[in-house]
This record gives sequence, C-alpha cells and structure tokens, in this order.
Amino acid sequence: MGYKHLKFPENSTFLVTGGAGFIGSNLCEAILDMGYKVCCLDDLSTGKQENADIFLDNPNYTFVKGDVKDLETCVKACDGIDYVLHQAAWGSVPRSIEMPLFYCANNITGTLNMLEAARQNKVKKFVYASSSSVYGDEPNLPKIEGREGNLLSPYALTKRCDEEWAKQYTMHYGLDTYGLRYFNVFGRRQDPNGAYAAVIPKFIKQLMNDERPTINGDGKQSRDFTYIENVIEANLKACLAPHEAAGQAFNIAYGGREYLIDIYHTLTEALGKDIEPIFGPDRAGDIKHSNADISKAQKCLSYNPEYSFADGLKKSIVWYCKNK
Ligand code: NAD
Repeated sequence: MGYKHLKFPENSTFLVTGGAGFIGSNLCEAILDMGYKVCCLDDLSTGKQENADIFLDNPNYTFVKGDVKDLETCVKACDGIDYVLHQAAWGSVPRSIEMPLFYCANNITGTLNMLEAARQNKVKKFVYASSSSVYGDEPNLPKIEGREGNLLSPYALTKRCDEEWAKQYTMHYGLDTYGLRYFNVFGRRQDPNGAYAAVIPKFIKQLMNDERPTINGDGKQSRDFTYIENVIEANLKACLAPHEAAGQAFNIAYGGREYLIDIYHTLTEALGKDIEPIFGPDRAGDIKHSNADISKAQKCLSYNPEYSFADGLKKSIVWYCKNK
C-alpha cells in the first residue's frame, strides 16, 4: 500500500509536465519528499506560479516555464530525464465543447510532442494522465478496460487519442508508456475557483463562504472520487512497472461509488453549515454514473490504493480550512 517505501535508482530524475497544477504539484512534492530530483514543465495556463514557488528552495527542484505544444521545449526538458509523468493538459468536459481546436492542439499534439521528446532522449518510462471520460456512454458498471463506448466530448476524444499515440510509441519505438485513467481526483491544492472547477473544492469553498452551491442535475449522479495520494501511488508504481505492462491504459480510482448529494450533505455537516443547494440543469457531455474496476492496475502495476473516499475527504476539508 502507498508509495513512500518505493525505491528508484540513486539520482533518478523525473519530469512532471503540468507540475504547477493540482495533480502535478502533488507529484513533485512526493518525489522531492522521497529524495529524488524533479523538473516541472508548465506554461501556467491553468496552473499557478505559487504551486512551483513552494519548492524553489529545494535544490532537487527545477521549474521551466514552457508549452508542450512546442516540440523543441519538450525535447530540451527531457534531456537527462529517467521518468516522465505527463500531466499537462486542459481538463473540463464543458470547456472542451466550447474550444475543440484548442483541445486538439493542447491535449493531443502536446502529448505527441512529449512522447517524441521522451523517445529521442531514451527515457525509461513514460507515464501519462488519461481519464475515465474515455468510457463515454458505455452503460455498464463498473468501468473496465477494453469495454469503452462512444465518446461524449472533445476532451474525452483527446484522452483516447493520447492512449492510441502512446500505444504506437510502445509498439514501434520501444518506449514504455503507461496510461492512467484517473477517476475524479480530489485533494489539497485543487483549484476551487472558476466556472470549470471540480465539485469537491468548489463546494467546500462556497460553503465556507456561506454561498449556496449549485448541483447540476438532481444530485443522484455517482462518481468514483479518488484521493490524490492514490494517484501519486499509481504514477510512481507505473514507473516501476514491468515492460510487459507497457502500451496499455489502467483505471486509477478507489473502486467506490459516491453520490453527489451525499457528498454535499457530508460537507455541510463537516463544515457546520445549514445551507440548501441550488439544483441546476444537467451538464452536456456528463454521464450519470461512473465507478471503476481497478483489478487491472492492481495486477499489472501493483496498485493498492491506501485512502478511501471518506479518509481523503476528511484530509481535504482540513487542508481547505487551513488554506482559505
Ligand atoms: P490542472 O489544470 O490543475 O493541471 C494541469 C497543468 O497543466 C496546469 O498547471 C497547466 O498550466 C498545465 N498545462 C496545460 N496545458 C499546458 C501546456 N500546453 N504546456 C505546459 N503546461 C500545460 O489539472 P489537474 O486536475 O491537475 O489534471 C492533470 C491531468 O490529469 C490532466 O491531464 C487532466 O486531464 C488529467 N485528469 C484529471 C482529473 C481530475 O479529476 N483532476 C481526472 C481525469 C484526468
């Protein structure tokens, strides 16, 4: 369980793209805490300078402001790197419906550039962020790798394309790639602000400010919310995974199922707030239910998530209360 016991060769160097974002900055922190070197490549388009500044006094950390849409930037950033953890992308299903061309360039070309840069620099492992959205309208639960439906958004399409490109790089160029299909990640440093913010940090912040959060739909939709520590474990274990598991994608979740309305009530109770939500319309491109079968990641990556949803939520609430 967990990742703190994992050992990499001495002087191992990681590149985290999107390292000034929510998941990337948590990856950087975990790698630094384990005593290894990490370079963060981020264009600060949705990430924050402060998520890089917190590590700048650590000699094992370097920050490069750069865009993965630029191949030369990617090739330079991969020089001397052993493991790439590619997180840089734009999230949000509704925003991708508004900006399909940008999503194609940023999320697909950006990933292809990083794959090519990793190949040219002979990195050992290329681990990248995919998404549960690749299951599209497949109705069966739990979601299982190999049983995907029709894609419901440009965002989902970018992640599916990334998986296919990564497979090509494993097949033709021998680059060990591992796609991690994250299911609704939450935890410290996730941005609560803006129209495209994720529900958990957004609700916590609104409730702390005595505002009424809006639930899209009836609140009876369910998700496999996954605490950030489990995602860190998956990334680091993928770096140590065998060659035989390369060229594939894996569900990364806890394997639970939480209803939005229940989360809402847990939050109001934990924060001591008596606030009724506003019920808004359903969001385009959203599915009603999602939860993951994680047995493939357990078997191939030795992934064994340590934090249940309830444990993660408690830790997140404490963090947001301290970091208002
Ligand atoms: P985030 O927005 O907090 O982080 C993404 C980071 O990538 C930001 O710092 C941003 O500035 C950077 N970035 C974006 N485009 C870039 C570019 N062209 N060049 C360089 N940097 C760029 O989002 P996150 O929640 O940390 O997501 C990280 C990854 O995980 C993304 O690939 C996302 O699609 C994927 N993902 C996240 C979730 C989730 O629940 N958070 C679920 C599924 C998949």
